[in-house]
Amino acid sequence: MEISTDASGAPGNYTIVRRRFVERLRRAGIRDARTLDAFEAVPRHRFVPEALRDQSYLETPLLIGDGQTISAPGVVAAMTQALALRGDESVLEIGTGSGYQAAILSRLAGSVVSVERIPRLAARARSALDALGVSNVIVFLGDGTQGRADQAPYDRVVVTAGGPEIPKPLLEQLAVGGFLVGPFGERDNQHLVRVQRADEGKYTREVLGRCNFVDLIGRNGWAA
Ligand code: SAM
Repeated sequence: MEISTDASGAPGNYTIVRRRFVERLRRAGIRDARTLDAFEAVPRHRFVPEALRDQSYLETPLLIGDGQTISAPGVVAAMTQALALRGDESVLEIGTGSGYQAAILSRLAGSVVSVERIPRLAARARSALDALGVSNVIVFLGDGTQGRADQAPYDRVVVTAGGPEIPKPLLEQLAVGGFLVGPFGERDNQHLVRVQRADEGKYTREVLGRCNFVDLIGRNGWAA
């Protein structure tokens, strides 16, 4: 894999690699220009453990520790595009993981609240976001299946771990007109769904595809 250098000559900038990576996302059906720009701008390798960095721009999930993964980029891109962000939205992300999806969202929305249940991952993600100067993402430690009522409502909710069903608090914390995107179904086989809150008590649901995410664990998810 080709590795470009930055202005100081330091290796590992991956600019050229990332351009090709975005071209692959485009060919795979990601058409939203703002989403593609965000994937070109955010250095995925900064969210990947050092030992796996040369795999950062491959279409594969990678282990980030504690049995968790940074999702494959094509899935992250499809979920991001499905959120239909215009730039000023408030977003709730469940499952901070590496912080990569949060960094992407930070470029496309007004503010991001991201919840992670594993302390070590939350701390590492915060450091990676800080190192890139990302200031509109708040990372909270806790059970994201309960949402974050103190910051609600959210224009968008994205769930990045697979649960048995959509946690009710997340539907309640979604703003009217807003979208929720996430994987729900069986443990190793979920539907990626997009729900729109059409009215106070009315939700419409569409299935975007099939997927296989790590478990959403919590009061309104799977048992630990
Ligand atoms: N969005 C992440 C990224 O960009 O790296 C990938 C997320 S990884 C596929 C799923 C994450 O969800 C894991 O870090 C896991 O610990 C977390 N998770 C699972 N259940 C959770 C819950 N109830 N609340 C918060 N985080 C949860």
